Amino acid sequence: AREIRLASRPEGWPTAENFEFATVELPSLNDGEVLVKNEFISVDPYMRGRMNDTKSYVAPYEIGGRIEGGAVGRVVESRADSLPEGTLVLHYQGWADYAQGPAQGFTALAELPGGAPSSLYLGMLGMTAMTAYTGLTRVAKMKEGDVVFVSGAAGAVGTAVGQIARLLGASRVIGSAGSEAKVNLLTEKYGYDAAINYKQEPIRQALPQAAPQGVDVYFDNVGGDHLEAALDVMNRGGRLALCGAISVYNEKGQPAAGPDNMANLIKQGLMMQGFTLGDYVQDVAGEFREKMTGWFAEGKIAYDETVYEGLDSTIDAFIDMMKGANTGKMVVKL
Ligand code: NDP
Repeated sequence: AREIRLASRPEGWPTAENFEFATVELPSLNDGEVLVKNEFISVDPYMRGRMNDTKSYVAPYEIGGRIEGGAVGRVVESRADSLPEGTLVLHYQGWADYAQGPAQGFTALAELPGGAPSSLYLGMLGMTAMTAYTGLTRVAKMKEGDVVFVSGAAGAVGTAVGQIARLLGASRVIGSAGSEAKVNLLTEKYGYDAAINYKQEPIRQALPQAAPQGVDVYFDNVGGDHLEAALDVMNRGGRLALCGAISVYNEKGQPAAGPDNMANLIKQGLMMQGFTLGDYVQDVAGEFREKMTGWFAEGKIAYDETVYEGLDSTIDAFIDMMKGANTGKMVVKL
């Protein structure tokens, strides 16, 4: 099998030199184990954090170790009754063409109807959409009639936030993204009422016009200028769910100072809370699966994926995703 390992810790933006490809001989299967041929592997922003040697909510990757992460594949050899050959599975072994181990490390997946790609289990039917659902329902405690603003709106989490907010009865959904093509897609395909290209006009300047009635729920994927812009326009009793801060993941040195308008938390009686999916997954997974499967079957869920081909393209896919090359979920097809 071929796998991608961390060769050195990136400082600022990662480059190809930070990674190495290795070929490993897989041992024959023990009782209870399966061999899986990967169909899609996931590249996600949180992986950038794990490349640093800093304490976080998931342990850092080790130098010389495989880049772990989500992947979907099919069992090609099995010594476990629970996962016969041919079963579609989700696992977290990461950037490699094959995965092998005890069956407990793999989750069986239902085949999707109508030729929908199994990569959806990494995005709109998987981790990123569950993050969107969690942030809206558990953290921001979104209510019917709320005005919702989401940054990174054309990405994997963002495209799920807008649609779920709409399905949960938001009165207005506003998104921001980094290109004209993306903002057009948000209003035309994803049902956003307004979308802002933050590269064309500073978000702090553009948001008040897009949110004439203010904002009740802000779902933050970006941090920095976007968080500041949101704090400017939050309505009384508004809630901010801090999901990520991709604008600073590849910055070198000291992080920038926080928002200059934090006092609005007090003046407007706001609630701001950061979260990671891991803390909620037990509570939310069943409910999310039931709701999302239903909406999906009813044709209420749109999705986009940007698909790079081949294990060799994984590093490019990862870096390009953080630069905004993706619409919806970025995945690598093997
Ligand atoms: P995306 O699919 O949204 O891809 C990243 C996107 O970030 C790019 O496409 C780009 O879009 C945007 N971006 C990059 N730099 C900037 C910048 N300086 N300002 C504004 N936008 C920028 O990734 P995900 O949906 O997987 O993740 C989105 C966020 O959610 C991340 O912050 C991630 O860390 C977080 N996350 C958190 C989880 C949790 O448990 N808390 C779980 C999963 C994700 P554009 O062209 O619009 O700039």
